[in-house]
Amino acid sequence: MTAGVRPAGGLPLRPELVGVEPYGAPQLDVAVRLNVNENPYPPDEQVVAAVANAVAGAARGLNRYPDREAWALRRDLAGYLGGGVLPEQVWPANGSNEVMLHVLQAFGGPGRTALGFAPTYSMYPEYARNTHTAWVTGRRSDDFSIDLDAAVALVRRQAPAVVLLASPNNPTGTALPPDTLAAVLEVAPGVVVVDEAYAEFRRDQTPSALSLLPAHPRLVVTRTMSKAFAGAGARLGYAVAAPAVVDALRVVRLPYHLSGLTQAAARALLAHAPTLLARVDELRADRDRLAGWLAGRGLEVAESDANFVLFGRFADRHLVWRGLLDRGVLVRETGPDGWLRVSVGTPSEIAAFRQALDEVRADVRSGVRGDVATVDLLNGTRR
Ligand SMILES: *Cc1c(COP(=O)(O)O)cnc(C)c1O
Repeated sequence: MTAGVRPAGGLPLRPELVGVEPYGAPQLDVAVRLNVNENPYPPDEQVVAAVANAVAGAARGLNRYPDREAWALRRDLAGYLGGGVLPEQVWPANGSNEVMLHVLQAFGGPGRTALGFAPTYSMYPEYARNTHTAWVTGRRSDDFSIDLDAAVALVRRQAPAVVLLASPNNPTGTALPPDTLAAVLEVAPGVVVVDEAYAEFRRDQTPSALSLLPAHPRLVVTRTMSKAFAGAGARLGYAVAAPAVVDALRVVRLPYHLSGLTQAAARALLAHAPTLLARVDELRADRDRLAGWLAGRGLEVAESDANFVLFGRFADRHLVWRGLLDRGVLVRETGPDGWLRVSVGTPSEIAAFRQALDEVRADVRSGVRGDVATVDLLNGTRR
């Protein structure tokens, strides 16, 4: 046996993985699911038919490995982004989660550090752990913004190989101002990832980091089809970066990492971008209305450029979360203590959420606790 291997429960598991639960929000079978920031509108039948047709075409060649470089898809993604982005600058994988893991595999590793600003996306420390990269967090301010001077000082001190910045940030919805990003890019010695999973939902005055790419060879912008494109089930995310960065990601990917079926489905979705993205404007308006409603109820609401809203603060947020679940509404218990996150659903889902929240708050005020049905739901039915 290798020196240092201590079997835990009979398995020679890496010690840092012992007792660790796999990451993921509860997938519960409830009527109104507003907990993982999905697009609430399924693709319409025309898009479904186009995807089915494209997948059938790919199925005719399933005896062969797919295009390892996914050139057709990369051309389509570059075309969607516009602004002079070339296919050589685009790197697709199974969700932007895999793209960011590729970044850590290529640029992180033992003896290197990755840095983020909490509260932020819970997967970042996991990519670091899985690649033996040290993980360091700076703190966001009370309004969830990143203090420019503190960020610059921290990046100087830590000299991280990778900086991970979500903009808009999850779970807070906060966008990163261009001057903060510029300052971090200026001092960061390694690559700087701007995770723009929610970019299409940003408000009109909020810029994308894509425009900084020509001037910054170590900037990596990641995007996904999981949110705005209503394609969470397709598992397609991508990085946009200098061709040299993409070449580094190509070194660490598994051979044929992106299935021919996924490539075909993603291309069909992209061909219907205008139809799919038409819903985004509605969702942005519904987000602003929902944030206004929550504020009108006397709650604190984080400013959001995404398709969700973080709201609070509750003395016992778990009680509120459970009360909502008892009423068939699933939100996410995440972020700093006292806060909850709700994804923007359809108007009827938002109405159900609003009614349930009013009821729960009235109950909490009068001292009524949640009932046992929720416990059964949590322990039993899984979707
Ligand atoms: C949802 C989300 C993603 C997208 O992940 P996929 O793997 O593309 O589905 C990435 N980053 C953040 C911050 C997210 O919230």
